[in-house]
Order: sequence, then C-alpha cells, then structure tokens
Amino acid sequence: MKLVLIGCPGAGKGTQAKMLSKKFGIAHISTGDLLRDQMKRGTELGKKVSEIMNTGGLVSDDIVSAMLAERIKEDDCKKGYILDGYPRNVAQAEGLDDITGPLDKVICYEVADDVIVDRMTGRRSCPECGKMYHLTYNPPKTEGKCDDCGAELIQRKDDNEETVKNRLKVYHETTAPVIDYYRNKGILMTVSGVGDIEDIFNKVASALEGIN
Ligand code: AMP
Repeated sequence: MKLVLIGCPGAGKGTQAKMLSKKFGIAHISTGDLLRDQMKRGTELGKKVSEIMNTGGLVSDDIVSAMLAERIKEDDCKKGYILDGYPRNVAQAEGLDDITGPLDKVICYEVADDVIVDRMTGRRSCPECGKMYHLTYNPPKTEGKCDDCGAELIQRKDDNEETVKNRLKVYHETTAPVIDYYRNKGILMTVSGVGDIEDIFNKVASALEGIN
C-alpha cells in the first residue's frame, strides 16, 4: 500500500503516519526527518539545506526527490510506505508516480491556521525515540524528559512562531494546490485533523481496510 499524507505543518501527519505504519506494517517516510538527519550528521547535503529548513522554506525538488528515490529502495519499503511531507508542490506531485508508481490513497488532514501556531510552538520531541509531546495538551510526566527513554526533550528549530507562520504561508501558496491535484485524480480522502488522535486514526484506518 502506498499512501501520501498531506496537511499543513502541525496537522498531525507525523503522529498519524506512525500509527498507520504500525497498523499496516508499512514504512513511514518523512522527508523532513530525512533532511534533519542529514543536518544532524553534518553531511554536505545537511549543510546545504540547513539555512532553508531553519527559516521554513522548501528545499529544492531535485534534492528531495533523489533522497526519496533512494529511501524507497530499502527493505522496509517492500510492502509499501507512507509519505509524510512529500509532495510539497505540484511539480513534486507530477513527478511522484515516476518514482513510486501509482498511489493508493492521499489523505489530507484539515486544521485551521490559528490552531496550528498554538500546537507547534508548544511541540517538543524526544531526540532518541522520536516520541512527541505538547507542553499544554500532552506534557511529559517529568518536565523536559521523555516518558519512555528519559532523554532530554528538544524543540525543533523551525517550531518558533515566526518560522511557523512562514511555513504556513509556504503551505497555502505552494502545497495546498497539491490537494486539488489529487482530488482530480480521484484518490483524495479528507479528514478533520482536530479532535481525539485515536478517532482520527480510526476513521482513516477503516477507510484503508481492504487495500493491499
Ligand atoms: P517537515 O518535517 O515535513 O515539516 O519538513 C521540515 C522542512 O523540511 C520543511 O519546512 C522544508 O524545509 C523541508 N522539506 C521537507 N519535505 C520537503 C519536500 N518534499 N520538499 C521541499 N522541502 C521539504
């Protein structure tokens, strides 16, 4: 099964992708995570993209599509995968079938902008296991520490208010047209990204039952 998750930054794609990946036994591929990993490791590519990523702009299509094409060759992608954060513009969407073959479903998580700024500026994550928290809505049991592995929680550099607003602007101008692209192809499913995380997951998971 090949899925794409779309939604503005902070719509919950990462959280939902992790849950769907577990349920259907398919890989979760976040292009943002792949790029952050390059930055963390200090590679040439990481150095090249860090400025763009830290200010909320988009990395060039060539770089991200090449990275994706490599990633889907790995063993964990044999049964399928969930793309989280790709495609980010219509050009990437148009080229995607050449990389992956036909997609089964594109799921769009809808959340209003004012909810997003609050969600993202309070977001924290564990650098060791990737578990996500929110200072108000889902705080860790011990302040600043991961419940599962005890590591010191971090805030993503691009989760500050100014950068979040820029990422939303980029989303509306550049990524939102991708939704219509997939609606016209007849494979789009939209779901509200506001409410209980399990309820949102169940709605999508039941719509996907029966797809191999
Ligand atoms: P994300 O973790 O999906 O919010 O992505 C974080 C940042 O990585 C974005 O703000 C972009 O700078 C970059 N990025 C991730 N995916 C893409 C993509 N498909 N195309 C261009 N830039 C991307």
